[in-house]
Amino acid sequence: MKKINKILVANRGEIALRVMRSAREMGIKTVAIYSEADRQALHVRFADEAVCVGPPASSASYLRAEVILETCKRLGVDAVHPGYGFLSENAGFAQMVEDAGITFIGPSPYAIELMGSKLAAKAAVAQYNIPMVPGTEGAISDVEEAKNIASQIGFPILIKASAGGGGKGMRVVENVAEFEEQMKLAVSEATSAFGDGSVFIEKYIGSPRHIEIQVLGDTHGNIVHLFERECSIQRRHQKVVEEAPSAVLTPELRAEMGRCAVDVAKACQYKGAGTVEFLLDENLNFYFLEMNTRLQVEHPVTEQITGLDLVKEQIKIAQGEPLSFSQEDLAIYGHALELRVYAEDPANNFLPDIGTLTTYKRPQGLGVRVDDGFEEGMEIPIYYDPMIAKLVTFGKDRQEAIEKMIRAIDEYQITGIETTLPFGKFVMEHEAFRSGKFDTKFIERYFKDPSVLKATPSQEEEELAAVLAALFAGQAKATTGTTPNAAPASGVSEWRRNRLK
Ligand code: ADP
Ligand code: ADP
Ligand code: MG
Repeated sequence: MKKINKILVANRGEIALRVMRSAREMGIKTVAIYSEADRQALHVRFADEAVCVGPPASSASYLRAEVILETCKRLGVDAVHPGYGFLSENAGFAQMVEDAGITFIGPSPYAIELMGSKLAAKAAVAQYNIPMVPGTEGAISDVEEAKNIASQIGFPILIKASAGGGGKGMRVVENVAEFEEQMKLAVSEATSAFGDGSVFIEKYIGSPRHIEIQVLGDTHGNIVHLFERECSIQRRHQKVVEEAPSAVLTPELRAEMGRCAVDVAKACQYKGAGTVEFLLDENLNFYFLEMNTRLQVEHPVTEQITGLDLVKEQIKIAQGEPLSFSQEDLAIYGHALELRVYAEDPANNFLPDIGTLTTYKRPQGLGVRVDDGFEEGMEIPIYYDPMIAKLVTFGKDRQEAIEKMIRAIDEYQITGIETTLPFGKFVMEHEAFRSGKFDTKFIERYFKDPSVLKATPSQEEEELAAVLAALFAGQAKATTGTTPNAAPASGVSEWRRNRLK
């Protein structure tokens, strides 16, 4: 066993904090890296040591593998946790870390590389009899040939970037007339976004649900699954609401999808935490989509229903410890929901709405977990993913988790920017969601008229609260000469002062 004493978290925001919290509980020292835009960030304050790695742009800071590695060596770091996004699925970075004799908390560079290409992944799992979406086996470059294949598969089809991720690099083609133009666009997008223009064709499944399976593998060849997460509520092919377990999986289907996910992990000798994604059609047939070789944004819902801390499991695996449980030891308790609170305007096509969190008050109470990286008065930087927080609720069953989510959304106070909170409430109150009869077309089908959000009481309440707060601030100023809640003159926040005491 190789005991880890000091971890550098090569990430920012909520996930950096979340990783550091588990490390600290394990008695492991933490190192934060940050860009010039993140000097005041919570992950920087939480860490035992923090190092600025460059200017705001990701390419000049969080993506600078060499600088990050130098920092590791200089500070005597013995392991790197990459979080999600940034360098987490960069096989070259994982290799550099390992070559320097430092532990990469994640799978092998080989597994990252293999699963990073959707096409290579499909080829690697072919021997395991795993159902796949009908489509091309390899990359296609000849337009005429591609057109023929698309016609054989039957429109609509999807052109996908093999190296794609984060919902980007996908184009739906409705008929043969649109094909050529869409393919050209897909190739050029894939080239500019992922540095790899390889595209392939998949049948476009009409109304699928997105169901994914969490897996854990150790370095002794043991692989288990931690059941499913349903992530069908999406905008731009990216998740907004997730839950575990899914409202539609039977124990048999769960076991079968779990078995397939474990086989996918076996195909790349997977170690660490990973996720195997599937689509599930109306007849409950499932198809392998891809594997994400990292901790997923929505991992907290799995933690809530299994009672496991996935980051601790990742660290223990990286130390060479065998899993302390087998598949039979694992069971689902209760139900968990997650709402990604993005700085986006749901009434305006979910466009990012960057600004300052003039009010920021988290909900609390039994069964409510908030993973975030901000506090009141902070700005949401324009340089990175606009996620403010993940609001997670946990109840004895789905109904209770939904009730808690509605209560927590109402309790959450954010002003200064638009967020996905009102959209989350719309979902929780919608009959299709409550009855479990929904799929990835939820937004398209039921959220055509976003003006419904404007009528929700929480928005009106917010406006009223803002007016009252302004009035109150005016009064307070007149009587005491100070503004309530203003930053102390020293410029050091209350939080920081408490810590420095
Ligand atoms: P998850 O699969 O964990 O639900 P998301 O699709 O929401 O993840 O992506 C997690 C983060 O990683 C986001 O910040 C997203 O922008 C980023 N991301 C994921 N894949 C890629 C990729 N291939 N290229 C660039 N960014 C990516
Ligand atoms: P990414 O790497 O961007 O996460 P995925 O292959 O995981 O790409 O797909 C993301 C989402 O796009 C899925 O959850 C689903 O909503 C949609 N999608 C992907 N492939 C298909 C398909 N063949 N048919 C219908 N929808 C699809
Ligand atoms: Mg995916």
